[in-house]
Amino acid sequence: MSIPVHTLPNFIGGEWRASSAADTLGFLNPATAEMLGRVPISPASEVDEAARAAVAASIEWRRVPAMERIQPLFKLKGLLEQHFEDLSRTITLECGKTLAESRGEMQRAIENVETACGIPILMQGYLSEDIARGIDEYMVRQPLGVAAVIAPFNFPGMIPFWFLPYAIACGNAFLVKPSEKVPLTMHMVFRLIEQIGLPKGVVSLVNGAKETVDSILDHPAIRAVSFVGSTPVAKYVYARAAANGKRAQCHGGAKNPIVVLPDADMEMTAQISADSAFGCAGQRCLAASIAVTVGEAGAPFTDAIVSQAEKRKVGNGLDEGVQMGPVITAESRRRIETIVQKGLDAGARAVVDGRGPKIPGHEDGFFLRPTVLDNIAPGAEISRTEIFGPVLSLLHVETVDEAIGLVNSGTYGNMACLFTSSGAAARKFRNEVEAGNIGINIGVAAPVAAFPFSGARESFFGDLHGQGRDAVEFFTQEKVVVERWPREWSRKF
Ligand code: NAD
Repeated sequence: MSIPVHTLPNFIGGEWRASSAADTLGFLNPATAEMLGRVPISPASEVDEAARAAVAASIEWRRVPAMERIQPLFKLKGLLEQHFEDLSRTITLECGKTLAESRGEMQRAIENVETACGIPILMQGYLSEDIARGIDEYMVRQPLGVAAVIAPFNFPGMIPFWFLPYAIACGNAFLVKPSEKVPLTMHMVFRLIEQIGLPKGVVSLVNGAKETVDSILDHPAIRAVSFVGSTPVAKYVYARAAANGKRAQCHGGAKNPIVVLPDADMEMTAQISADSAFGCAGQRCLAASIAVTVGEAGAPFTDAIVSQAEKRKVGNGLDEGVQMGPVITAESRRRIETIVQKGLDAGARAVVDGRGPKIPGHEDGFFLRPTVLDNIAPGAEISRTEIFGPVLSLLHVETVDEAIGLVNSGTYGNMACLFTSSGAAARKFRNEVEAGNIGINIGVAAPVAAFPFSGARESFFGDLHGQGRDAVEFFTQEKVVVERWPREWSRKF
């Protein structure tokens, strides 16, 4: 597939349409700062066109049997596999992560399509006969109508797939609003979606930023909104969607701690922790951001993680052997460097300082190297703020209880991980820690598509999460029917 380099069109009502937007934004390759194209800030009138097309399509689409509704998803799976390398390269081009990371992301996207193909079973209702004499009661699941996703920049290929395949397989029409920083991957995906035989209007792609999001949140025909992004915007979207009577699920930011006990395999732990903290240049909502070492784990873990951080190969994600790409924008790099500087000013010590690197041949790219900070005081700003960059802060405590207390003192609750060879410690951690995703000897506890992508506290607003059965429940409405068939009527038969 060739990549367009102009202002991207929207895909509305089954057609590619140039946006009438007065404003456009350029989006860049973060490894080179080269302009890849422009994205329109689609006005309310275009969200309205997409929503109207979706309403019209959803009336027929909900009547298509579930078994038939999943047939286009099988075709989509085939096309995503056929164009796997192109899509992975596009993710790397606009988002900066390494090709291996982009391939992993696309694999997760495909997994969600596969899981949604089980909708005929996942969407089943149930029946109880004779809840009273001659009375049966049953529950059916019906589609909501029209739903939309507002996506972040860091997984341009995967995150829309936490929602899209489930929404449409459940009989809804669906709008995708990608991040304005990385709109190309969804553009490419929609060039495949247009080939899978979905009726016009069942899926639409509307590009834009805040104004476009507000139009989605205010549109009366859009019944449900899925959001993934930073916590302040998640809160805003949740409140505005709810005020407009919509169902909302809003995944927010994170500050993920990993806890290392002295009985952990230190080499393995450091390697896994480095992959977690520095993979995707730390721009993962499941990135380790704080390492809390307990007792004697402090010195060996610090040595091992420093060695991992120092040897990480940083460069253009398209190049062979590169382990860490750039961060998304120059502004993002400045923000990360400022947070690190503030941490140092507050008494932290940089055991590895990754600021200001020169990557030969990529002088214009938005690169940082891994940074490891020690001497962090508990409660210091750097141990609480989401950095969303390749920075790991070290804290040292004496007991498992202290470590769990520290983990639970943060405001976020996306992920927490423990490294140990003790089953009892692992059980205690899993039980007592307040986070949606728990890793035991795992650094990125990303659930497979059949499980919900959970989140707690300031990392999630809503009840039902993305992926799996939660997605099916989110995109359907339960209807309970109570039915009386008096016994004397059945005597006739
Ligand atoms: P972001 O909040 O800046 O943007 C997310 C989306 O919201 C984009 O589509 C953007 O156009 C829109 N948006 C931005 N500002 C807005 C505003 N003021 N009003 C309305 N809409 C607005 O997030 P980002 O920088 O693209 O992504 C990184 C963030 O996403 C991090 O905080 C990360 O932790 C989080 N994230 C969370 C998860 C999770 O599962 N919890 C997964 C991935 C990323």
